[in-house]
Amino acid sequence: MSPAHSIRSTASVLSPGVGRSPVATPASKEKWIGCLVGQCIGDAVGAPVEGLPPKDCKRHAEKVLRQGLLDDTFLGQSRFGQYTDDSQLARELLLGLTEHGRLDVADYAARITRLFMSGEVVGAGKATAEVARRLASGVAPDEAGIAAPSAGNGSAMRAAPIGLWYADDPSALIAAAREQSRITHQDVRCAAGAVAVAGAVALSLRGRPIVTEPFLAELSEWVRCIDQTVAFDVYQISSWVTLSPDAAVTFMARAGLCPGFDGEWAGISGYVVPSVLWSLYSFLRSPDDFVQTIETAVAVGGDVDTTAAMAGAMSGAYLSVSALPQTLCERLTDQGRWGFAELTALAGQAHAAWQDRSSK
Ligand SMILES: [Mg+2]
Repeated sequence: MSPAHSIRSTASVLSPGVGRSPVATPASKEKWIGCLVGQCIGDAVGAPVEGLPPKDCKRHAEKVLRQGLLDDTFLGQSRFGQYTDDSQLARELLLGLTEHGRLDVADYAARITRLFMSGEVVGAGKATAEVARRLASGVAPDEAGIAAPSAGNGSAMRAAPIGLWYADDPSALIAAAREQSRITHQDVRCAAGAVAVAGAVALSLRGRPIVTEPFLAELSEWVRCIDQTVAFDVYQISSWVTLSPDAAVTFMARAGLCPGFDGEWAGISGYVVPSVLWSLYSFLRSPDDFVQTIETAVAVGGDVDTTAAMAGAMSGAYLSVSALPQTLCERLTDQGRWGFAELTALAGQAHAAWQDRSSK
């Protein structure tokens, strides 16, 4: 989660044309479940090798996803399944949306604070941990966020539920993704990354085959409302997606960085731009294959619980829960709670609440 620096300028002009509904028919409950559970699986696959070089991550992904060897030794546990802060925070976001019927910034800030102060957070990012301490000491949510140019992926990694809840209202999606981002990350690139993740989920719910270029063109238009240069990078994936992972990573790992900046990460860093781009690349390279998407997201090395969590949310939203490996679904856990059954129930309740909201 280390912050990175770049020379980006920002723009904040709501563009026309984002008001039309991206959803032809209401998305099914199975897609909502797929999104939440898919995020947790990606997170849990990547977590044991977070920060490790590509060769270690590649070997680990193949072992878990292709050979079915699920003995991870992660956080003292000997079996696959523990997910981390990415998915804990996404789960809390969906809980809040369900309870309030919309994004309630004060409620979500309180949920972040509670998760961190209780000690239940797993693999906490430094920036969000610092903000949680500020919130706990009484700093207001609109003042607590880490200031620019720190621009980690901590607010993008949890943004998928915004894409579920606001899939039929792009303007509201953009506003909500930005507002939830600002609680912890004030850099506008973080908000742009959150819009990219939430927007990709929303577009994946449509129930139509994904065609890369128009998918990215529409997503880029939404991101452009927040930051023009991140939007350009998002659209650039339409050129990079045909490259092999080894070739694509040479472009995407450095996206948004100053020329000559020499990051300390092998693979994809925790800087918001490369990690969001890599999650999109992983998904769009194999939209019909959840396992391949997670393998691509993890094998690159670096901050791979987060790249795989975001890619897993997109893929799960597109393919529905029935396309996710059952053996991995059943192993999910958050320290003995919030396993597959509870996550499924939450996504189902959230979907019902969303339908109820939509029908009023
Ligand atoms: Mg994590």
